[in-house]
Amino acid sequence: MNYKRSSALFSEAKQYIPGGVNSPVRAFKAVGGDPIFVKEARGAYLYDEDGNEYIDYIASWGPLILGHAHEPVINAVIEKAKKGTSFGMPTEIETQLAKLAVSMVPNIDKIRFVNSGTEACMSAVRLARGYTGKDKIIKFAGCYHGHSDSFLIQAGSGAVTFGSPNSPGVTQGTAKDTLLANYNDLKSVKELTNGNKNEIAAIIIEPVAGNMGCIIPTDEFIQGLRDLCTSEGILLIFDEVMTGFRLGKGGAQEALGIGADIVCFGKVIGGGLPVGAFAAREEIMNHLAPDGPVYQAGTLSGNPLAMSAGLAMLTELNNNPGIFESLAKKTEYLHQGISEVLVRKSVVHQINRFGSMISVHFADGPVIDFTSSARGNNDTFKKYFHGMLSQGVYLPPSAFESYFLNDAISYADLDKTIEAVKNVF
Ligand code: PMP
Repeated sequence: MNYKRSSALFSEAKQYIPGGVNSPVRAFKAVGGDPIFVKEARGAYLYDEDGNEYIDYIASWGPLILGHAHEPVINAVIEKAKKGTSFGMPTEIETQLAKLAVSMVPNIDKIRFVNSGTEACMSAVRLARGYTGKDKIIKFAGCYHGHSDSFLIQAGSGAVTFGSPNSPGVTQGTAKDTLLANYNDLKSVKELTNGNKNEIAAIIIEPVAGNMGCIIPTDEFIQGLRDLCTSEGILLIFDEVMTGFRLGKGGAQEALGIGADIVCFGKVIGGGLPVGAFAAREEIMNHLAPDGPVYQAGTLSGNPLAMSAGLAMLTELNNNPGIFESLAKKTEYLHQGISEVLVRKSVVHQINRFGSMISVHFADGPVIDFTSSARGNNDTFKKYFHGMLSQGVYLPPSAFESYFLNDAISYADLDKTIEAVKNVF
């Protein structure tokens, strides 16, 4: 494959944009080489500026669960755009999307729209602090909740990929209110709650993690967290930015059978446009301005184009819940196919999968938390990533990310992908 034009565009971008990208993982730093520049995408496929075609296993990091340029979504956006792009005033479509989201997801009565997953998590924590009157939060090593200050403490995703899980620029004052526990380790959480009695507002977690690869909570761990939060008067925040409207209509709450107190959304809820949201029972949400004292706002929040994309997307998922099952079956097929090849070639590996999220770790032993995820062999990962890319398969360019399958991927695409794995090893 020839990547000449992508490389030239990257050189130019680096002169004007830090690192040539507007979000770090895009730069391919963890795997080496220049990133590919996308020209367009349709269904399961990406087309780059050099005319190469790729089966896409990222789907814009999750939002495009129905594939790229999905017609009902695109048409909804075009029709809306003709009527104006932003008003900073209430519109009916905000209520339509809110009503639909509340009907699909358990344990939420009201939802507030923002512009990104970062904003959703940041605002959810402020609301939890305002509601409980307590300052501290617990997060888990390797979980990523966006780039707001309180979360850049042992964060996953790009933060750890680039070796700055604790970013310079976050003050000591902020950092001291974020306590750190280990995923799938209830004891580490109990030590913190015991040592900080009546000081913890919330525990925030990716209920199925996707930012240290895909990591699945054990039943005892997630149920234990729920029980602990209830008994200690701590709010349990599920960051469902990745899992919401992906693991099922009701996201991870439904898939795991565990209720959260506040739920954060992003990605799928915006249909590929910039949307985030946070939601809870009425009693909690009523603490938000203008009804309550906890302030939160946004010039472009509830933007009509973004709402129209989200509404088209959620409407289709709500009407065809079989999509979630079909995606999970495809993901299982991919898992088995890759696994067979790697076993046959004696490549040390672990594959984690939940619904349409999956990750391949070149690690010895189960991958259940950040430490075990970080043990993966990065040289093998790089070889795998570039080997797949050169055969037209686009995988996340870091071992600390999950793949996201989309509904446009066919079994023929999956077979081609498995064949490509065979060729790499
Ligand atoms: N939470 C989770 C679980 C995420 O995966 C992400 C982004 N990948 C975020 C929050 C932040 O979302 P955004 O990038 O839209 O700010």
